[in-house]
Amino acid sequence: MKKTALKKFKEIECKACSAPCKSGKAGLCPSCASKKAAEKRAQAKKDKKRRDRTEGNITLDRLIQACHAAIKRIYPLQCHGHQSPIPLERGVKTTQACHFVNSTFYAHKFNPKNILPGCSYCNHTDQSHTWRLGDWIDFYWGEGTAANLRETKQETLKLNQLQRNALFNMFRDETLDRVQTYDFYEKIIKGENTVYHRSTKTPRNPKTDNT
Ligand SMILES: [Zn+2]
Ligand SMILES: [Zn+2]
Repeated sequence: MKKTALKKFKEIECKACSAPCKSGKAGLCPSCASKKAAEKRAQAKKDKKRRDRTEGNITLDRLIQACHAAIKRIYPLQCHGHQSPIPLERGVKTTQACHFVNSTFYAHKFNPKNILPGCSYCNHTDQSHTWRLGDWIDFYWGEGTAANLRETKQETLKLNQLQRNALFNMFRDETLDRVQTYDFYEKIIKGENTVYHRSTKTPRNPKTDNT
């Protein structure tokens, strides 16, 4: 008769809480093992945060914020999703940055051609706003631009940390207009070195707490 190989577990006591359990997870019971894994993940996150702070690295969230703020500055502040454009109020939650090609497609997540100011109603409720955005995109950037964004939405775009930092610095430059913003955007994602490839501020000192 064929023997089935069974993994042999020893009955042990958890190294951390002494609960009787089966060996196999570095001497820990399942609950202590998952607790330890969670702690490890939390520590890694903390380490990254500290490293980013030291190096002046920009997080994805801050990059998104800077990008959306730039969109509301370089385009006329009106809803581009409404049938007849309505003016938008600056600095309120309902004034948003609307993506034409969905921002889950990374290719155009930060593309200034793909994002226009709009109201929260259009952004979240009104599906037909999308083709109106497309019309505006062609109006600002030329016939066929919206179609091109759609066709290329699945292309991969990988941004390294230096590019993220450069995009952030660039989006924060209030002297740039719409076209200049796009030109620099294109240079940065193509990997060209730009004046924005340096920290515009001195990185903050690392925190010295030893937790
Ligand atoms: Zn335990
Ligand atoms: Zn609207």
